[in-house]
Amino acid sequence: MISIGITGGIGSGKTTVSKLFQQQYHISVFDADSVAKKLAQQNSSAKKEIEKNFGSMYDKNGILLHKKLAEIVFSSSDQLEILNSIIHPLVFKEFLQWKSRLQTQASYCLAEAALLFESGMDNFVDYSFSIIADEAIRISRIIHRDTSSPDEIARRMQYQLSNDEHKKLADFILENNGTPEELTRKVLFYHTLFSTLKEREAEQ
Ligand code: ATP
Repeated sequence: MISIGITGGIGSGKTTVSKLFQQQYHISVFDADSVAKKLAQQNSSAKKEIEKNFGSMYDKNGILLHKKLAEIVFSSSDQLEILNSIIHPLVFKEFLQWKSRLQTQASYCLAEAALLFESGMDNFVDYSFSIIADEAIRISRIIHRDTSSPDEIARRMQYQLSNDEHKKLADFILENNGTPEELTRKVLFYHTLFSTLKEREAEQ
């Protein structure tokens, strides 16, 4: 089973693209960001490490105080790195288990991860696929989608790879500056291409 890591900056459209693959072509998608959140909430060794490094982060019912943790890690790259070093290895393990249990007719699966390259998850997939879009378009789409402020979005973007960096790193790039119809056509193109891929040989 070939795996393709799908990534992109905030508001680039990676979730929309993943859903199109799922809905139109029945492609299985591993959602690394949801799994990371679940692990921070449920995995006992992750919880212990989070409290050890960041102090009290769970309410009296054991629910993670997401906002409090986000404020800490998005204000310091060192803190973010600590959180990532706790969570990411557990996510990779879950991904490999998920992939080994997968039962599907398709020849490939997707792993959606906002931090595919930054986390090193690109080493656990055969190919990488970045969704890019112009910053102004991404900001305007996010403002329409939720209550994030432009400042908050800019702050998050600052910790993410730029479109140019994605272009250098990814095996495949989808530019999502157009209409939903254009996006649907591009997804068909990539589905056709991905269906022909062979497993990547280990690099010498
Ligand atoms: P995040 O990193 O914040 O989770 P994301 O990369 O997953 O973002 P999406 O949530 O898929 O991005 O897309 C952001 C918003 O832009 C959504 O509301 C989505 O419906 C919209 N959107 C995505 N692509 C297009 C498009 N081509 N035309 C119009 N709207 C779009």
